[in-house]
Amino acid sequence: VLLFTDRGSDNGIATVGAGVRLGNLALEIYAVGERALPHGVCPGVGVGGHFTHGGYGYQSRSWGLALDSIVGLDVVLADGSYIHANASKFPDVFFALRGAADSFGVITYFHLQTRPAPSSIVTFSASIPDALKNPNSLAVSFSYIYTMN
Ligand SMILES: Cc1cc2nc3c(=O)[nH]c(=O)nc-3n(C[C@H](O)[C@H](O)[C@H](O)COP(=O)(O)OP(=O)(O)OC[C@H]3O[C@@H](n4cnc5c(N)ncnc54)[C@H](O)[C@@H]3O)c2cc1C
Repeated sequence: VLLFTDRGSDNGIATVGAGVRLGNLALEIYAVGERALPHGVCPGVGVGGHFTHGGYGYQSRSWGLALDSIVGLDVVLADGSYIHANASKFPDVFFALRGAADSFGVITYFHLQTRPAPSSIVTFSASIPDALKNPNSLAVSFSYIYTMN
């Protein structure tokens, strides 16, 4: 099975087989050109369900959901036709597939707009037991956290 026909090396659009899992996707597109996508955190989750139903992860607050990266889909419809749907070809099908694909067809390949991977990441934890004492302390504490760089 050909899992990737393009890993996003030229225009940044990776063509990804529907059976690929998130961990392999992230590793492959990073290896080919330090590219990245917004998606969830579990490496064993499949692209097929994840990208068609949303896909929320660490990058989503800045990059959106996984399905926001979809620029085209190769799909077998219920009548047996095999089409490529995007914003200009079969736009209604393209709209429906991003959120309810399993009601409309079987996607074989996802065309995903990758982004340059961040050059560094920051991980942190904060212990704020006093923040939970009342709504005001909670609001003040979270306001403070959002001002931290
Ligand atoms: C351990 C774990 C961690 C998770 N973490 C996150 C997370 O961080 N963020 C998040 O947003 N979600 C997360 N999820 C939820 C996950 O995104 C969904 O369960 C997702 O639907 C899994 O997709 P799948 O292809 O692996 O599953 P499947 O059960 O194979 O598919 C789920 C649905 O999608 C349909 N589908 C699958 N492939 C296709 C296809 N090619 N064409 C059309 N329809 C298809 C199936 O028919 C089914 O209805 C997590 C799930 C697990 C189990």
